[in-house]
Parts: sequence; C-alpha cells; structure tokens
Amino acid sequence: MNKREKFLAYGQQSIDDDDIAAVVEALKSPFLTTGPKIAEFEETIATYVGAKYAVAFSNGTAALHAACFAAGIGDGDEVITSPITFAASANCVRYVGGDVVFADINTETYNIDVLEIEQKITPRTKAIIPVDFTGQPADMDSIMELAKRYNLVVIEDGAHSLGAEYKGRKVGTLAHMTMFSFHPVKPVTTAEGGVIVTDDWHYFEQLKLFRSHGIEQTAYAEEQGAWYYEMTSLGFNYRMTDIQAALGISQMKKLDYYIEKRRKLAKLYNELLRNVDGITIPYQLENTNSGWHLYSIQLDEQNIRKTRKQVFEAMRESNIGVHVHYLPIYWHPYYQGLGYKKGLCPLAETWYKGALTLPLHPSMTEQDINDVVSLLLHQIN
Ligand SMILES: *Cc1c(COP(=O)(O)O)cnc(C)c1O
Repeated sequence: MNKREKFLAYGQQSIDDDDIAAVVEALKSPFLTTGPKIAEFEETIATYVGAKYAVAFSNGTAALHAACFAAGIGDGDEVITSPITFAASANCVRYVGGDVVFADINTETYNIDVLEIEQKITPRTKAIIPVDFTGQPADMDSIMELAKRYNLVVIEDGAHSLGAEYKGRKVGTLAHMTMFSFHPVKPVTTAEGGVIVTDDWHYFEQLKLFRSHGIEQTAYAEEQGAWYYEMTSLGFNYRMTDIQAALGISQMKKLDYYIEKRRKLAKLYNELLRNVDGITIPYQLENTNSGWHLYSIQLDEQNIRKTRKQVFEAMRESNIGVHVHYLPIYWHPYYQGLGYKKGLCPLAETWYKGALTLPLHPSMTEQDINDVVSLLLHQIN
C-alpha cells in the first residue's frame, strides 16, 4: 500500500444518532439559547471534573478572554504562557491590554517549564496560563506553588485535556480557573463552545457578567421595577446556545469511552514507533494520565535523511492527514510586529522544527494506526 483510499484526518468529531436526537429536541423546545440546557451542561461539566462552578461560552477563546477579565488582568500586566500552543492562549491576554511573556518548554513533556516561568516573573507579572499540550497536564503542583509564592492567578488552558488526570486528580480542579474547548477536534464537541470551571465564587460572578454584556439585575430593581437591569461593566455577548449545550450533554456521556479509545490507539502507536531510528515518541510522565488529544512525534532530520517537510508532504499525498502543532506563537507576524525576537525560546523552536502530528481520534481503528505507521516507515526508510 502506498496510499490510503480515504483521507484520514488528524482529528475529527464523533457524532452519533443520540447526539442528533438531542439537538433536534433542543430545536423543538421554547428555548434556543440560554435556557435549561445551558445550566444542565454547566452542571455536567462541573460534576465531571469535580469543580464547584462552570460557565459556558460561545467558544474556548471567548472563555479565555472572560477568564483574563475575571482575573483582573489589564493594561501593562504581564502574563506568562507557553510558545507551543494555539494562538488563543496568548491572544486572550492582548484582548485585555496585557503583555504576553513566553517561557520556554520542558524537553520531556513539551509543556511550559516551571524553572523558565520563575525566571520570567517580574513585579508586573499578574498571571500564568499553562497549557496542557496534547492532553498531558502541565506540572500544576509546581505552578500553583509558584503562583502562591508570587501571588499570581493561574488560568489553565485545558483545551486538549478534558478528562486527563494529574496525580490522580482531574484537570479542572488544579488551577484557579480552567478552560475547556468544544471545537470539533477537541475531546468532546458542541461545534463551537468553551467553558471555564472554577471553585471561586467571585470569578464565577465575573465570568457570568462578562458573558452577557456586563448586565445584571441589581438591588435597585426592587425600587425601580421588575424590568430594571444595569450594565455594571463592559461585557460581551459570548453566550452558548441551548442547541449546542444539548449536543454537549449528549457528548459528555461518551467522553470516558472516547478517552479510553484514544489511550488504546496511542499505546499502539507507541509500541510500533518506540524503536524506530529518527523518531521520538511522546513522553508520558508517570504521574499524569494524558487524554491524548494529539499524538505528536519528533522527527530527527539527520537520522532519516529527509526533511520534516518532505515527510509531511509525502504523508498528505498518501491521504494521511498529518499536521504540525505548533508554530511558536511569537513567530507569527502579529507578535513579531510587537517586537518578539526569534531565538527567544530555543527549545520550543527546536521542538517545532521536528514536530509531526499523526492522526488520532476515537473513530479510528487499529487498522488505521497500522496504515499510518506503515506509510510513515516507508517514507523515512
Ligand atoms: C482550540 C484551542 C483554543 C481555543 O478554543 P476555541 O474553542 O477554538 O476558541 C485555545 N487553546 C488551545 C490550546 C486550543 O487547542
């Protein structure tokens, strides 16, 4: 075989008849948005991860924006994050006027390195946004310890890690606020959607305000009349619909099954690729249990006598939807324009040059994994 008949995407949603029925039912209900399904979805997420509160948003990026607002990040505040993540992890800081500071990654986990974070802390530092890259939780105990010492807010970007565990605890209970995304490639989907979970009542109140124009029913309503509401801060319309929440509730019933499937398939990749020259398989820490959102290997161009680009293109030719996660954020022209220089995080840059994401999602079979591996070995041998 030198080509798959059908294109295999690097990630995609799994939608079944129950999901479709749930959406149809929501469409027939009196509420299309901000009805009972939102509250039920928020309750489902909070219960699943073991957090007190959950606030659903129109997408994960909006949720991160809201978390930055709730954390009180503003003009001139510095926020530290990883360069190896999706742009939204950094952009949310810019939305509220803050400055993004990139701390380099750890060469074992490819997550943000705690020692690097500490070196980047200044009197202006307000928050840290660790990212659970590929679904493997960042070193959250050390990060929370650092945050306590320097009085910083921690907003965990868990877009990849819903259902993942760190020292036996679910992601969602480790940071002050945690964001999950429900984009179609993420662990479960609402088409577009996001959520912040937190145990903090103050953050919870701020997040709800920010989601809906900064409008609230204040104490004056009693004196003025029941129609009365006030806009007390500048918010947005970042609401999720009931239709999406209904899909989310239905999807959550299958999350554990999806993750089990991902873990099984990742294990098979590991077994098949572990001893291949020129390939480094993802490293799994003993005290974490990754949700395996992405399966990302490192290619050593010296050892395979081909460039990453050549391997990427040949795999795409063979109908294998390989991808690369991620370009260091500060390499993007927008961030270059803000003055960030190449070379800032050398380990992240080296990671980027060798990275190749192989397809992994719950509807794949073991045969799919075998196809990817045999085509890959054919390319690099
Ligand atoms: C997907 C993603 C986001 C943004 O989520 P959206 O729901 O697409 O807005 C943020 N951070 C990371 C790491 C992501 O993968």
